[in-house]
Amino acid sequence: MRRVLLIGLDGLEYDYVVKYHFPVLLQKQHGCVPVPLPDYPVTGLLWAMILTGRENLPTTPLNKNILCRLEDRGIIKLLRKLRITKIIGSSLAKKAISLLVRRGYNMVPVSLRDYNVKTIFDVVTPSIAISFPALNLWPEIGALFAKYSVVESIKREKLRIRLEQELWTIERRKYDEALRVLKDASIGWRLFAVHFFVTDTIPHMYPGDIEKQLQTYRIVELWVEHFLQYTTPEDLVLIVSDHGLKNGLHTDHAFWSVNKDIEPPKKLTDFYHIILEYLGVSSSLS
Ligand SMILES: [Zn+2]
Repeated sequence: MRRVLLIGLDGLEYDYVVKYHFPVLLQKQHGCVPVPLPDYPVTGLLWAMILTGRENLPTTPLNKNILCRLEDRGIIKLLRKLRITKIIGSSLAKKAISLLVRRGYNMVPVSLRDYNVKTIFDVVTPSIAISFPALNLWPEIGALFAKYSVVESIKREKLRIRLEQELWTIERRKYDEALRVLKDASIGWRLFAVHFFVTDTIPHMYPGDIEKQLQTYRIVELWVEHFLQYTTPEDLVLIVSDHGLKNGLHTDHAFWSVNKDIEPPKKLTDFYHIILEYLGVSSSLS
C-alpha cells in the first residue's frame, strides 16, 4: 500500500543543507519554493498553507501567527483593553503573557480546526500528525514560547540555556513518539507526519552562529535517518520547511526533498497536491 511520510523541519535553510551537505535530508529530488516574507512572524500561516493547499485562508488569528492563545478569554480581553496584546510580539505583551503562564494560565495552540478548515489529515485517512503549527501543536511548545522570549534569550545566556534544554526535551519526546508509531506495524496509516521546531528556534537564538545551526541540523538528520529505517520502498518521503533561516532571520524560500521522481513543486501549496496525487486521493474531496 502506498503511504506518505511527511517530515516538517521548521525554518530549514535549503542553501545550508546543500552547501554543508546533509545527504539524508537531500533526497533523490530537492529544491526550494518561494515564500512570502512579511514583517511579522509567519510560521503558523505558512504551515496552514502547506497543510490545506490553500493560499487564501480565511482571516483568522493564524494570519498573524499567534501560534497559541491564552485559555482564558477574559484575561485576553482585559489585556486588549489595556492595549497590551495589541502589538503581537511586543516585549510588554510577551512579559504579560509569560507572567500569566507562570501563574498557571494555559496556552492553547491555535488550530485550523477551530475555524472548520479542512487539512490534508482530514482528506487522507487514516493519518497521524505529531505537533504541527496551525493544527495540533503540542501545548508545551506554546507554553515554552510564552515562558521564554527567544529575542531575550539572545542577550541572556542563562535564559538561553534553559530555553534550549527545555526545547530539546520536548523535541526528543516528539522523536520518540514518531519512532514508536513507525516501529509499530499494527498502527495503520496512509499519511504520517511530524513537525520539529529546533531547526527554527536554535538558529534564532544564535544569530550568525552557523556551527550551532549545523549541529542542530545534524541531530535532526540522524532522527530522520532513524525514521527512514521503518519506511518501505513504496513510501513517499517528503521533507519540507516553511521558510529558510540565515543569521537568525527568516529567508524567503522553503526547503523540499522527496525520495521519488515527481513533478517538482513550484509553490508551498503544491506539497498538498503531491501527497494526494501519490496516494490516489481525489483533491475534489478537499
Ligand atoms: Zn517557521
